[in-house]
Amino acid sequence: MLPALIARLGAHRVLTAREDIIPYGFDGTATLKQVPAAVVFPASAEDVSFVLRLAREHGAPVVARGSGTGLSGGSVPMAGGIVLCLAKMDRVLEIDTANLTLRAEAGAITQKIYEAADAAGLFYPPDPGSMKISTIGGNVAENSGGLRGLKYGVTRDYVMGLEVVLADGAICWLGSKCVKDVAGYNLRDLFIGSEGTLGVVTQVLLKLLPRPAARRTLLATFTSMEAAAAAVSAIIAAKVIPCTLEFLDRKTLACVEDFARVGLPRDAEAVLLVETDGHPAAADDEAAAVESICRTGGAAVVRRAADAAEAARLASARRSAFSALARLRPTTILEDVTVPRSELAGMVRAVQIIAERHGLQIATFGHFGDGNLHPTILTDERDTAEMHRVELALAEIVAETLRRGGTITGEHGVGLAKKPFLRRQLGDASFELLRLVKRALDPDGRLNPGKIFD
Ligand SMILES: Cc1cc2nc3c(=O)[nH]c(=O)nc-3n(C[C@H](O)[C@H](O)[C@H](O)COP(=O)(O)OP(=O)(O)OC[C@H]3O[C@@H](n4cnc5c(N)ncnc54)[C@H](O)[C@@H]3O)c2cc1C
Repeated sequence: MLPALIARLGAHRVLTAREDIIPYGFDGTATLKQVPAAVVFPASAEDVSFVLRLAREHGAPVVARGSGTGLSGGSVPMAGGIVLCLAKMDRVLEIDTANLTLRAEAGAITQKIYEAADAAGLFYPPDPGSMKISTIGGNVAENSGGLRGLKYGVTRDYVMGLEVVLADGAICWLGSKCVKDVAGYNLRDLFIGSEGTLGVVTQVLLKLLPRPAARRTLLATFTSMEAAAAAVSAIIAAKVIPCTLEFLDRKTLACVEDFARVGLPRDAEAVLLVETDGHPAAADDEAAAVESICRTGGAAVVRRAADAAEAARLASARRSAFSALARLRPTTILEDVTVPRSELAGMVRAVQIIAERHGLQIATFGHFGDGNLHPTILTDERDTAEMHRVELALAEIVAETLRRGGTITGEHGVGLAKKPFLRRQLGDASFELLRLVKRALDPDGRLNPGKIFD
């Protein structure tokens, strides 16, 4: 199989030396790794089709990979499998200012897409914390969210079309530039969030918005978690939908401040970072409403960013939460659960109690406006006894989430990490329906096997 791959792609696009392929054996998820047989870098959908047909002939499993920033083990390969890395297919192909769309190859970096839209006076809202390195193909495969999810939604809300290569090598286009299009089943949506288990995305057609004229940034600190959560509910109840409504707990706050030095208060129990945007008058009105709600709700301090530079520093400090926490212990396990917003304060407390019960360090931050929390376990994978306690704690966090009507993953996907819990959340009938879809599209189980379910 290797000679055929090299003949088609060239030796420089096929890696097999152990020292070259080890970095493609893991993603951003702690403790999960596996060494593939080869890593290949296609340059076109036709190359992807060739690789999938060859893999079929040889019975080899294939995992699509973008930048490997995934946090559920989605791009961890099977031992002896092929990693199909889309990173070299990274061009923005078209910006259509008449239709407000952007077309890009799947390996294009999310930030590059944001910047290309911005240069045309347009706006691509989904902004995962990893956007400087993640690919748009990975975002589509995980249906990634981001800090602007509350007002603008997630990746799915911006995908108008996809070029997908199926397990048998067939190349198909799903969707179009038409704002309304109900011809046939909505297969495009089936592939969004399918974690590379149904097909390989090679091109993405995205919807763009006019760029918001203004943005206002506020920071509110609270001495109790309940007060911060109540302020979030009050903001939404007041029919104000900020573009960003992020939360950091005391432990995260201290770490981020040590790391970014932007003047965050270390003594607060909870901090909300809020951004409003739109027409300058609307952004101002909404910021004033948020400020007043936070003050009435008992915020210790409410501070508006003085200028765009301070706003950017605060947003970038929030984006650095994962990296800041990762400095504390050798292993960082970033959880991703979502609960109804009414359950937020209780859920954060429950995580703290679970941490104390198991003698673990867990810091929590997340997209409070979406009910999406990232309890982050700081541990050391070489310590077997502690890792056993980590496993117990993770299972308890998931159970607590489901008990509160939540979901086991809000944006990072099921992959390997959440596989044991999926049936419990979905129930037997829905779970079997997922498997039926997988069998229909990938009867040999060639694409990203072992992910989502066995
Ligand atoms: C610091 C940090 C912050 C993060 N913040 C966020 C956040 O705010 N919101 C969020 O949602 N996620 C976040 N993530 C998780 C991660 O960045 C996203 O899941 C991202 O979309 C993964 O993109 P990637 O290119 O790295 O994909 P990879 O990790 O390479 O792959 C992820 C999954 O997508 C599949 N895949 C990749 N490319 C394709 C393709 N072309 N066709 C088919 N399947 C494909 C893979 O098989 C795998 O299952 C964060 C991660 C880190 C490390």
